[in-house]
Amino acid sequence: QDIRPSAQPPAPVALAAVEPGPARRPLISYVLPVYNERDGIAAFHTELTAALAGRPDLDAELVYVNDGSTDGSLAILKDLAERDPRVRVVDLARNFGHQLAITAGLDLAGGDAVIVMDTDLQDPPRVSLELVDAWREGADIVHARRRTRQDSAFKRATAHLYYRVLRASTDVDIPLDTGDFRLLDRKVAAELCRYRERSRFVRGIVASMGFRQKEVVFDRDERFAGETKYPLRKMARLAVDGVTSFSTTPLKMITRLGFVVLAFSLLGIVYALAMKFFRPDITVSGWTMLMCVVLFLGGTQMLSLGVIGAYIGRIYSEAQGRPLYLVREVIGGDDDRR
Ligand code: UDP
Ligand code: MG
Repeated sequence: QDIRPSAQPPAPVALAAVEPGPARRPLISYVLPVYNERDGIAAFHTELTAALAGRPDLDAELVYVNDGSTDGSLAILKDLAERDPRVRVVDLARNFGHQLAITAGLDLAGGDAVIVMDTDLQDPPRVSLELVDAWREGADIVHARRRTRQDSAFKRATAHLYYRVLRASTDVDIPLDTGDFRLLDRKVAAELCRYRERSRFVRGIVASMGFRQKEVVFDRDERFAGETKYPLRKMARLAVDGVTSFSTTPLKMITRLGFVVLAFSLLGIVYALAMKFFRPDITVSGWTMLMCVVLFLGGTQMLSLGVIGAYIGRIYSEAQGRPLYLVREVIGGDDDRR
């Protein structure tokens, strides 16, 4: 477009504005993290496209983020991009993890609203349209909350407990039983892009942002194909990131623990001294007591150091200030947004 000052009015734009006809259709960006989803991704794409086909009042952009898959998912995604102009593929240079994959997608998504959802069909595509409806009714953030879920009993139990512990340990109003399946208005997504912390717990950050938040309840389906990409190790890391990013309760608990231990130590010392003065005949046999005290103090100190270490680790990785993720290439989509 010509940006030089000119006597001619920008006629086509003005005309288009007064022309009768439907208002511009909102563009919905889907941010879709993919890590080794070879067997399910095509089915997911088909189901999402079918859901969108029922809503001609919406435009969509599908941003698939390949998070260093090693099973050939990338080839399938490239194929989708070739056949569907709405598809863009962000290929990360390695596996950066779910939370950073989402972040990479959010950075690139240019829609009026952005929906983040899993690509294993556990988050049903039709529910994403319910999120859109809630957004059109005026919500800025729409959380999809799981009423039921089909995961293993262990996963359900730990997740159930975790969300409650997390809520209790922080002032942030983090919605219960809600993963990363949600819709963000364009302005919320733009603000979210300014949060550059590395060990990120995206659902917590979003909840802490404010705006008009709403919940849509859904029943979470079973994984369509393959195994969970969240083994216990990754789940534990996410859990620790969630607590340490939104709560200093563990640090405060150390102090309380310190007081309790101190009180017991004083009692122990009084006891030891009393024994020494009033029952000198048996004081030699203080081995048990000694062991208890040493072990207990050693244990609590280790625990405390561990908690402090978790925070120092965060400080260290934030201080390094490295880029959050590296993109190998972006395939498809409009040139001007690359
Ligand atoms: N995922 C990812 N990077 C990872 C792990 C998972 O992009 O390192 C993606 C995965 O492909 C899926 C979503 O994140 O689309 C959620 O993972 P998964 O379904 O395995 O987690 P679960 O539903 O079992 O908690
Ligand atoms: Mg899943």
